[in-house]
Amino acid sequence: MTELWARLVGQERVTATLRAAAGLPGDAYLFAGPPGTGKEEAARVFAAAILCPDHCGTCTICGRVLRGIHPDVVILEPEGYTYPIEAIREAVSQAALSPMEGKRRIIVVEEADRIVERSQNALLKALEEPNPSVTWVLVTSVLQPILPTILSRCRIVEFAPVPEAELAAVVRTRGALDDEEAAVLVRAARGDLVRAISLVEDEATRALRTLAIDVAIRQAAEPNARRALQAATDVRLAATAAREAREKAAVVELAELEEVLGTGRGSGGMRRRLGERQKRAVRRAETDVFVEFCSWLAQAFRDLAALSAGAGPESISAPDRAADLAAAAALRPTAHWLQMAEEALGGQVAIRENAQPALAVEAVLLAPLAAQITI
Ligand SMILES: [Zn+2]
Repeated sequence: MTELWARLVGQERVTATLRAAAGLPGDAYLFAGPPGTGKEEAARVFAAAILCPDHCGTCTICGRVLRGIHPDVVILEPEGYTYPIEAIREAVSQAALSPMEGKRRIIVVEEADRIVERSQNALLKALEEPNPSVTWVLVTSVLQPILPTILSRCRIVEFAPVPEAELAAVVRTRGALDDEEAAVLVRAARGDLVRAISLVEDEATRALRTLAIDVAIRQAAEPNARRALQAATDVRLAATAAREAREKAAVVELAELEEVLGTGRGSGGMRRRLGERQKRAVRRAETDVFVEFCSWLAQAFRDLAALSAGAGPESISAPDRAADLAAAAALRPTAHWLQMAEEALGGQVAIRENAQPALAVEAVLLAPLAAQITI
């Protein structure tokens, strides 16, 4: 197993399929599976394997593909909730061009379920008249919004949730943790590889999780408006800090890329696309904190619901907080905790659908007070 394929954690079947396909790739693939199973990483790894004959993961070709700066690998992301049709049209016209350096162009479309139907029809044209030197890789966590006519043109590669043992191995190595600490983080991440890594490596992620659990316990047991608004402020500050950190990282990355890109053919377009991607990443870093907070909060409320319904501490996602959670769970009926979990999930959906994130989080945090009034 080369360093390149070793980047795909817990996806043996997928790895075998992609390895076999990389030598003579098809026109279009659809990577489907739950969030956090490494689909986006797999799309880059597959692109590198198509362009690097050794599948090495260490040469300049591999390095540039994996960092998203190879001129023959186009990576598309939605802007906000959807893709503008112009972005899809541009990708389709890109697909008509011949490769710049390698033997093939790879066009990766992340979160392909966010392409609205009209734009999907534009994409379909490109898939129906494939350019023999282009491979499309569509990536999605939900199949349902994708047109059957597009699905039928793609080879579907299914990603399964990462097995707990493999997640634990990643967590232990990355964080130099003992077995018990690793087990807690794996449970907290609920099979989501990206989340597990972020819990190990990012102090801010751990702090956000702690904040959500504390809020769920105290706020739902004894609702208090001032405390709810204080928590909303803490989340806002965390979001601002995440945006600022991403901004700094973007400046460093762009400076590095300047050296690699040079002024050759296609470098102007690359530079523009990279600049746009950085801008989107900065905006997204901020929104993601609000979404993630709602998700931790929903998870804590689900734990409370489970405990209040009589489940044991071994079945919850926060075994490290079992005692606090069990004490709070006993204070309210299961239905109350389930309702709070629904509210938190609703907040997450609202933010994804472009609600003002800070206001959505505030509403979620104030929900226990509203529930108390109606009791
Ligand atoms: Zn290589």
